[in-house]
Amino acid sequence: MILWAAFAVFASFYFSPSLAVQYDIDSSCSFKLANVGAAIEEAILMARRSVERLDNAAADHTNADDHTTTDHTAAGHIIADHTIADHTAADHDIGILFSRIFHTTISDQEAVQDVRNIMDSIANITRNIDGGEADLTLYCDNDARWQQGPGTYYLPTDPHFKLPRAPACRSPGTLATMYSVPLDHPRHDKLFAQITVCDRLATMSLSTLQDYLGFDWSTGGLMDPTVNPYHLLSVYLLHELTHFPAWQRPLTEESGVVYDVGPNSYWWQNIIQKPREDALINADNYAFFGLLAHLGDSGLKLSDDGWQVGTLVHTEFRPMMNFGFF
Ligand SMILES: [Zn+2]
Repeated sequence: MILWAAFAVFASFYFSPSLAVQYDIDSSCSFKLANVGAAIEEAILMARRSVERLDNAAADHTNADDHTTTDHTAAGHIIADHTIADHTAADHDIGILFSRIFHTTISDQEAVQDVRNIMDSIANITRNIDGGEADLTLYCDNDARWQQGPGTYYLPTDPHFKLPRAPACRSPGTLATMYSVPLDHPRHDKLFAQITVCDRLATMSLSTLQDYLGFDWSTGGLMDPTVNPYHLLSVYLLHELTHFPAWQRPLTEESGVVYDVGPNSYWWQNIIQKPREDALINADNYAFFGLLAHLGDSGLKLSDDGWQVGTLVHTEFRPMMNFGFF
């Protein structure tokens, strides 16, 4: 969920992250949010690029203490003791990005696996095209499908799907949310969830990175008031997808879910303050990691000097792509 921490997840349980989750887009999105299909595919791409770049990280060069010496400048100069081949093959930038967002190093295998597992699960989501029931459905009905019953809210088309409180869009400030089925739902042991994009978000004329082709993200950075990551529907959807119950699992002994870790769960300046344990279970940390992993494909990365305030710079480095996925 975006902007309302207490309502993010109703159930927490663990499934193997390799399950093939299929999504559908409800007809309520057809006119209200015509680009939601492009946006979810871009969110999936952000997750895929996160996995591919993590798999190509140069663990031997990305200790946290090494940032300033192994980093590449905007001019893309090559560190003297690396061969050109090494420079091309090894993705130093993803390790630096990982340490800035998750407060640990790329050598922290447990943390890398946590992030990789979540992102890999999202990367494997596909559109439901066989006409069967999807595991995950996106709605743009502002939660109008929920009916109020005695002490609960429920779906008339699926009375077992109940909410313990009013649907999220009816709460001021909520932009989007994910609902997973309650514990007594017949499909609880399978994958089943819904995302609602509330009207507050649907009316913001949000875009995808593709819509911004040619736009120079280095001019304003991640916290620019006029154009920033929260103008991207794909970033919101990647955030929501991290909440999907299929990949909720015991990341720590205390908590088994990726949720919105308060206080201040959102925005760049807040997520980079989160210590390792909180960062690894906070949805927006994943959303920003995926966005920045994908922006690397356009030759953008965080500035060494101004990364805390979200400054982006150009680099000649281009991360390797695994074309086998496409
Ligand atoms: Zn959330």
